[in-house]
Amino acid sequence: MRVPACSRTCLWRVGLNTDMKIAIVGLGYVGLPLSLQFAKSGAQVLGLDIDPAKVNWLNRGRSYIKHIRSEDILAQRTADAAVKEAQEEAQRTVAAAQEHADVLLSEAEATSRRMVSLEELPGYDFILCDVTPRQLLQLAKERLSPGYSRQLSKYRYGPAVFKVDYALDRPIPWKARECLRAVTVHLGGSFDEIAASEKAVSLGQHAERPMVLVAQPSLFDPTRASGGRHTAWAYCHVPNGSEFDMLSRLEDQIERFAPGFRDCILARRVFSPALLEKMDANLVGGDIGGGASDLRQFLFRPTWRRYATSARDIYICSSSTPPGGGVHGMCGYHAARLALSRQ
Ligand SMILES: Cc1cc2nc3c(=O)[nH]c(=O)nc-3n(C[C@H](O)[C@H](O)[C@H](O)COP(=O)(O)OP(=O)(O)OC[C@H]3O[C@@H](n4cnc5c(N)ncnc54)[C@H](O)[C@@H]3O)c2cc1C
Repeated sequence: MRVPACSRTCLWRVGLNTDMKIAIVGLGYVGLPLSLQFAKSGAQVLGLDIDPAKVNWLNRGRSYIKHIRSEDILAQRTADAAVKEAQEEAQRTVAAAQEHADVLLSEAEATSRRMVSLEELPGYDFILCDVTPRQLLQLAKERLSPGYSRQLSKYRYGPAVFKVDYALDRPIPWKARECLRAVTVHLGGSFDEIAASEKAVSLGQHAERPMVLVAQPSLFDPTRASGGRHTAWAYCHVPNGSEFDMLSRLEDQIERFAPGFRDCILARRVFSPALLEKMDANLVGGDIGGGASDLRQFLFRPTWRRYATSARDIYICSSSTPPGGGVHGMCGYHAARLALSRQ
């Protein structure tokens, strides 16, 4: 995700000052760049994530998001000796805590602790939560009004995805020549077939011929595979929380447009909706968009308050806020501006 070029200036313009202490819960596509941006601007930032793998990457000064350079993480993490001390402390905590861990992203704050409630984060000017309504309710239940909590609990999640990662011994043998040079291909057949596939999901069914999105990053990024081999991933939509095995239907659909595809497969890893949620708690029921995007939830996402909550120092900034899912960062940008403008 690219943080908008103007954001540093804009954040200052709406009232960021370097004495501010900001906590960011969840270091995903929104939370991580937001933490780095605030830290770069001089604020004291504590970033936290429930995923020990992500925390480990950060503690090693490495980025797990393609658009964010490891140098930017290192720059924040090696700013002074206190940070080094805190890194070591955070690493010890990661090893011990396994599931819950803190990561330090900027100069000043040097704590690390298991966090299960925002009550445990006193003294911050504000807290930005890169989580969906379900986790916000868990993290902040004592701080949110009953009315707002009720609204959050009515938030609806969208369809899930059933995803497969592939190691291939050659590029996907698409029939259509144009697809041989495409990193991403949406496989649907005719418009009517695509409509039928998505309609089935909306009715809680599993499409016989699902629309499949296939990406083959190794075509353009040689670091993804070596020796002429390739990597690819594919997903199709299924109802939220589905346990249905879509593997053969998904691969039949790829075979249909790329005969011989199955012969290219060296290995595959299947991600059911439940496994996706296990990997990232924000993917509730396997929904990768942070919640259903119908008209109501597009305009009032997750509630009419949008980024604000009933607690003045707690904000939500994930893809469960406008403009919704996608690697664009605008949810965090607007949440940050609102939080700063209310200081
Ligand atoms: C397979 C797949 C393909 C996708 N393809 C595209 C695409 O092609 N284009 C596109 O624009 N978008 C795509 N997306 C969607 C995009 O990745 C999401 O919209 C984006 O990640 C949302 O960002 P986020 O920061 O809101 O949530 P996330 O990136 O999911 O980050 C949330 C973070 O919060 C952490 N967290 C959750 N609960 C807690 C808690 N209680 N305490 C602390 N931390 C917590 C999680 O560990 C995670 O690190 C795809 C997603 C997936 C999974």
